[in-house]
Amino acid sequence: MPFDEAMTEIAAAAKAWRRQLHQYPELLFDLPKTSALVAGKLREFGCDEVVTGIAGTGVIGVIKGRLGAGRTLGFRADMDALPMSEETNLPHASRVANMMHACGHDGHTAMLLAAARYLTATRDFAGAVAVIFQPAEEGGGGARVMIEEGLVERFGIDEVYGMHNQPGLAVGSFAIRPGPMLAAGDRFVVTLNGRGGHAAYPHTTRDPLLAGAHLVGALQTIASRYTNPFDPVVVSVSYFSAGNPAALNVIPASIQIGGTIRTVDPQTRKSVEGRFRDIVNASATLFETQAEIDWRAGYPVTVNDPDKTRVAIAAARSVAGEAGVDDDWPRAMGSEDFSYMLEKRPGAMIWLGNGDSAALHNPGYDFNDDAIIHGMRYWAALVAERLKPGA
Ligand SMILES: [Zn+2]
Ligand SMILES: [Zn+2]
Repeated sequence: MPFDEAMTEIAAAAKAWRRQLHQYPELLFDLPKTSALVAGKLREFGCDEVVTGIAGTGVIGVIKGRLGAGRTLGFRADMDALPMSEETNLPHASRVANMMHACGHDGHTAMLLAAARYLTATRDFAGAVAVIFQPAEEGGGGARVMIEEGLVERFGIDEVYGMHNQPGLAVGSFAIRPGPMLAAGDRFVVTLNGRGGHAAYPHTTRDPLLAGAHLVGALQTIASRYTNPFDPVVVSVSYFSAGNPAALNVIPASIQIGGTIRTVDPQTRKSVEGRFRDIVNASATLFETQAEIDWRAGYPVTVNDPDKTRVAIAAARSVAGEAGVDDDWPRAMGSEDFSYMLEKRPGAMIWLGNGDSAALHNPGYDFNDDAIIHGMRYWAALVAERLKPGA
């Protein structure tokens, strides 16, 4: 069958899979229906190997080319939905209360399945492709768990590629940038312990509330005085708990503040964490209180390897043409757990146009089925680009 005809036929089937996934969203690592559908399709297509149970409900399909030995590429799709109520009123809207595919992972899963079907039918490449279907992108760090369970070593993955839909970007278009693309999102809770007492005799106390008030201001100097203004950093204190409005003559013995820090450069992330700790400890010392820092590391910075970004751009251009690929898409302060795979192996993540849809995580959002064919063609183009015989 000619290439275009095969693609159109598979994309039509993938649209039905996508809508089925959309109707039955599942959360985090708990994806029994979704992973069963994925594993069933991969077996039906004739993948050389289908492995389930990685990171709980993760599924890997291995497809070997018929043109000899070569690299192994890892293509990743996320499968999980969000705990929110859908308000689209579409015929294929979620049938599960308070769960919704509002980030388009149903589309990502369907597109990678479509690519697997095409690649198993053709196998016109050297080396192998591992199609990676991961759970728990939305907060559970499913990619990190897969990496910890030996994903890369077990399947001999040399390079990793990811794709996420982007509302507002035209259908059939792609966007990417080399280097940092999405932020790291770390969180913190600081407890300051002092000595409580009568508010009329503050000299007998060691007031943690006053220390905390200074600390909130001092933390704002990280972004305003410590880091380069051309290197984006967000420090937000979003939580402050102290004292009791029913006991206004009491200075509390301890207080808590918390918040989030966003950075887009791995080195800056490290140095900002160090500066944060120094400021917290120095502020505590200044007021003769003690600090306990609960640092909650979030997803790392998503960093596209420059060389693999060129590969991704070439593949995207072969699908969308020169004008259909923006290779200088702005960084954003959101985060993405594909970053763990990119820490382990070089690769690139690309945005796929979802057209004029509602925003991601909005109750009116729906993945655009017209994007499916472009996404699957991108996966096929990466294989053509990167798994040529003798390369
Ligand atoms: Zn999301
Ligand atoms: Zn997402």
